[in-house]
Amino acid sequence: MSEVLRSDVLVIGGGLMGTTTALFLRRRHGLSVRLLERELIGRQASGTNFGNVRRQGRALEQIPLANRARAVWGRVNELLGEDLEFVPYGHLRVCYTDQQAARLEQHVREVQPLGLDLQMFSAAALRERWGIFSDAVVAGSLSPLDGHANPRLAGPAFARAAQRAGAHIHEHSEVAQVEREGGEFVAHTVDGRRYRAAQLLVTTGAWSARFAQAFGEPVPLDARGPQMGVTEPLPYAIGPSIGVSTPIETEGLYFRQIARGNIVFGGGLKGPALCDPVRSQVLPDNTLRQMRELRRFVPAFENVQLIRVWSGIEGYTGDAVPVLGPSVRVPGLHYAFGFNGEGFAISPGVGEVMAELLATGRTSTPIEAFSIGRFAAARQDQAITT
Ligand SMILES: Cc1cc2nc3c(=O)[nH]c(=O)nc-3n(C[C@H](O)[C@H](O)[C@H](O)COP(=O)(O)OP(=O)(O)OC[C@H]3O[C@@H](n4cnc5c(N)ncnc54)[C@H](O)[C@@H]3O)c2cc1C
Repeated sequence: MSEVLRSDVLVIGGGLMGTTTALFLRRRHGLSVRLLERELIGRQASGTNFGNVRRQGRALEQIPLANRARAVWGRVNELLGEDLEFVPYGHLRVCYTDQQAARLEQHVREVQPLGLDLQMFSAAALRERWGIFSDAVVAGSLSPLDGHANPRLAGPAFARAAQRAGAHIHEHSEVAQVEREGGEFVAHTVDGRRYRAAQLLVTTGAWSARFAQAFGEPVPLDARGPQMGVTEPLPYAIGPSIGVSTPIETEGLYFRQIARGNIVFGGGLKGPALCDPVRSQVLPDNTLRQMRELRRFVPAFENVQLIRVWSGIEGYTGDAVPVLGPSVRVPGLHYAFGFNGEGFAISPGVGEVMAELLATGRTSTPIEAFSIGRFAAARQDQAITT
């Protein structure tokens, strides 16, 4: 039998949640850490996403975590010694109806006490500031310090920094099962290697439900594929990341322009995603719809050519709330998964929080709303009422 490799903490899954936690565990807390990734670091949702670093529009419980993440984004190049192309040019949400404008205004009021300052814009003020919007746009709210970054660069850069800080990163290491032995965790990879630690963190994205289930904590988690596209380059003119705020799913759309001029976009209906085999699909009708919606709110995109489309595999929880924090059943076990299409922005905050929790048993950022225990509590309530 192969030798067992030991560490204080074992992380399963090398997306952004795993790599950021590994970095902060080493840098801030000095714990030994091994991270096991099935294939290549950052290849799944963490590397295929849109790259929005957005705080507005989130559930209020997520704002403190998002603020914490934004603080890391602000110094991310210095932290990693690499450029993740993070640009703090703002995040703008626009809308098509007065009713939706009232919702935006309410959100502005709600997040202000939580430390997020947004600015409302009338249709005229929007057009004066950016000059790109059609008459269909009636209002918008700007989060001036948010922005966007390049997801393709992020996961590998965090992993390299974690490695330089002393973390062991094991690619091509798929965990087949985890056993409890003498109060510790022993992970077995499909190629027969064994890893042992007193603490375990599950950050396997859309693939996480089976680990939670194995530890007696079932979670409703669906895999779905947000739909992405990129156009040919246009003259660079648009700084903020921009999205339509609408309750109508088929109107949903967001885009950003990168320095080279291309417009990266996504939004609206999600496509099918299969965890096994690892495949997600772009729906051609949805791409055509996205192109129509792009033109609807920015007429200058009328003749722009599409050059590439893609999707990725993201985990969506039954209640659209992430799972973050300690297990309520197994001492030493922690989870960070189910980010419902908005985990990229908060990933460095998740990494700081999880590292703090694993090292000290507590965190200064409120995360109680994300406890995995809520699913067991809901099942119990249901059992009582039926
Ligand atoms: C197309 C798309 C667009 C998105 N746009 C945005 C956006 O603009 N802004 C935003 O904030 N969020 C966005 N998201 C969501 C964001 O990308 C995710 O929430 C985030 O990247 C999740 O990170 P993760 O580390 O939890 O998961 P992942 O990046 O999926 O990482 C999980 C890792 O676990 C590994 N793994 C799985 N099973 C095993 C196993 N048995 N053993 C070892 N390793 C295993 C996988 O190979 C994978 O690398 C988008 C997602 C997608 C797909």
